[in-house]
Amino acid sequence: MSLDTETTGTIYAQAIIRLVRGEEINKVAEEAGLPVDALNAALDEFLALHGKDFLKDSVAASEVKRNEPCPCGSKKKYKKCCEQLHKGIMDLMGPDAVEAAAAENARRRWLGERLNEAFGLLAEGRVQRSLENAEELLLQAPQNDRIHDLVYNAHLIDARFDDAMARARARYAVAEEEMAHFLKEQEHRLESQDPLAHLYHPHVWLKKLFIAKRALKNSRMVPDPPDEEMRSLARKLLLANDMNRFPETGEDGIAARRKGLNKVLARLKQEQGALPYLLEFCHLFSWAAALAPDVLAAYKSPLALDALVDMAVYDYPFVGDECVSVLAQMGDGGVNAVKEAFEEEPEFDPIKTPLVRVLAKVRSTASVELLRSFLGHASVHVVNEAGLALAEHGDPRFIPELEEANKRIGEQTGLDMAIQGLKQMAEAEAKNG
Ligand SMILES: [Zn+2]
Repeated sequence: MSLDTETTGTIYAQAIIRLVRGEEINKVAEEAGLPVDALNAALDEFLALHGKDFLKDSVAASEVKRNEPCPCGSKKKYKKCCEQLHKGIMDLMGPDAVEAAAAENARRRWLGERLNEAFGLLAEGRVQRSLENAEELLLQAPQNDRIHDLVYNAHLIDARFDDAMARARARYAVAEEEMAHFLKEQEHRLESQDPLAHLYHPHVWLKKLFIAKRALKNSRMVPDPPDEEMRSLARKLLLANDMNRFPETGEDGIAARRKGLNKVLARLKQEQGALPYLLEFCHLFSWAAALAPDVLAAYKSPLALDALVDMAVYDYPFVGDECVSVLAQMGDGGVNAVKEAFEEEPEFDPIKTPLVRVLAKVRSTASVELLRSFLGHASVHVVNEAGLALAEHGDPRFIPELEEANKRIGEQTGLDMAIQGLKQMAEAEAKNG
């Protein structure tokens, strides 16, 4: 089948949907004005390409009751919504394929439940038990990144940073290879070979590698022997993680903890020596870590600044934004910290994009110059983020530079939006003045 124009494609797509819903092929072909042979070929091609995915979803959905809400989210009853479509797919694919898909779904469910148990054990602090479960699960699903993630987290909690780094590095390599294969062949190799395979984006593992690396570096800052007084002072911040004491979540959660722990925070800000002990837990996402940026900002030391930059790159919910605003409040000091962060370890540049957000907030010559230099960066992600940040400065003079960068990186939505925004701003200004 050749889909020369969009219209032809749409006609075929609509006809295929009708076939899948169980309508008779001769009737559909006649009404759509398509040759039966061509429609049949189009259907085969469609099933070869998407049949397995649709079947997987159809079989899973067909396990709901007919009077229950449809799993597609339409809020209609299943029997009045997608049931016919799913039946059609199952008929077309045949009973053997349906049985195989049902078995795969059951195995996936089983894995999901076992993984939830293992993550639950980790949350309860039963690290060793959780790790044993993960190793067992890996025998069944060696290419499932959620299991590898569990192992990584267990190592991080156990302060086995070398092991965490090794795991992240190995999975990063697998993810990169899979991504390269996908870009070349438009096919997920590992995930199509093994229904239990599940791969993260390479950047997820690159970030995990960065975090483990920083955790190792920070662990070496702890004096030997440790200053137990400073350590116990820093650990008072862990009270923030007590959900019985602080049931609030979201922005309220931060505010409540700041208020409840204001004495601890005030003392910590006076004690530079507590820094290494704070960093003993700031690589783990927690409420305590969300309170740390404020303390680090008060220290005003190069080491504290480095820690703020690192935590901005970790980009944990709340914590990352908190670091970005603290860095932005430092003005050109923050800009310089971002510049230095990009001069080191360029292999991590694609995940340093949260730092570029600092430059969107600081309106200075140094900030603009750094953003303009990022428009020539090798990483599409950095260019995109820099374009967005530069547009936030609201100066239409940068439009030609942004357009050139956008062309170079193959027209990304982020930059498109930034350019459109600036053009509209320029037009409005021309009208008004
Ligand atoms: Zn539906």
